[in-house]
Amino acid sequence: MSSKPENLTLITDDGLRLDGRRADEIRPMKIEIGVLSRADGSCYLEWGRNKILVGVFGPREAHPRRSQRADSAVIRYRYNMASFSVEDRARPGPSRRSIEISKVSREAFEPVIMAEMFPKTAIDIFVEVLQADAGTRTAAINASSVALADAGIPMKGLITSCAFGKVDGQIVLDLNKEEDNYGEADFPVAMTQDGEITLVQMDGNLTPEEIKKGLELVKKGCKEILAIQQAVLRKKFETPVEEVSEEP
Ligand code: ADP
Repeated sequence: MSSKPENLTLITDDGLRLDGRRADEIRPMKIEIGVLSRADGSCYLEWGRNKILVGVFGPREAHPRRSQRADSAVIRYRYNMASFSVEDRARPGPSRRSIEISKVSREAFEPVIMAEMFPKTAIDIFVEVLQADAGTRTAAINASSVALADAGIPMKGLITSCAFGKVDGQIVLDLNKEEDNYGEADFPVAMTQDGEITLVQMDGNLTPEEIKKGLELVKKGCKEILAIQQAVLRKKFETPVEEVSEEP
């Protein structure tokens, strides 16, 4: 978040944002499933100008052995930004930011993945951000959720993620890059299908009333995203039931 150029208006008097959205609208999202043949599950997701690829591997024997847990699988989540994913080249390799995002994203999944079914194994979630335009951690969580389901990892439900923020003094859903850069606050959230929150972060300052309003927007956004995730999974896994004709 940096200081906004004086004459830059992020929301018009008509309530339209720079990309034409209203305050309560998410960016267009497109999901493809099973895009990597060597992964157990995979997903390619576009959300606005974000482009994210996720590969899920496992459950497979955890290496090194000392990383194994006798009573459950270990979940590993690695968020990585391709060096060409941002305007100024991103430095390759882990950074403070990517380590933090990996940790909170893993924790966002832990309540739903039934890890206790697979002792001594690892479930690896590899995220590659190919193009970034703000909201990559939320986009990556949405893609990972679909990739985990594609891998057949037992889960209590899908995880869905979306941010809200404060831009030109208004609470809006799903910030794009300009809004993230010049807005006043950014508040990513992830939740279960039942609306139980599994990730919350906050950058900037918000009042309790603003947070309450923002969480309502996020709930609406997550509902829309869940429908997109479910539709793509249904399309892949729902085999049409053939009508059985009765014996004459
Ligand atoms: P998120 O992508 O989850 O919103 P941040 O708020 O940290 O995470 O980043 C916002 C945006 O800033 C990113 O989506 C990306 O467009 C840009 N960004 C992040 N890291 C870098 C970087 N190292 N170099 C250039 N741009 C970056």
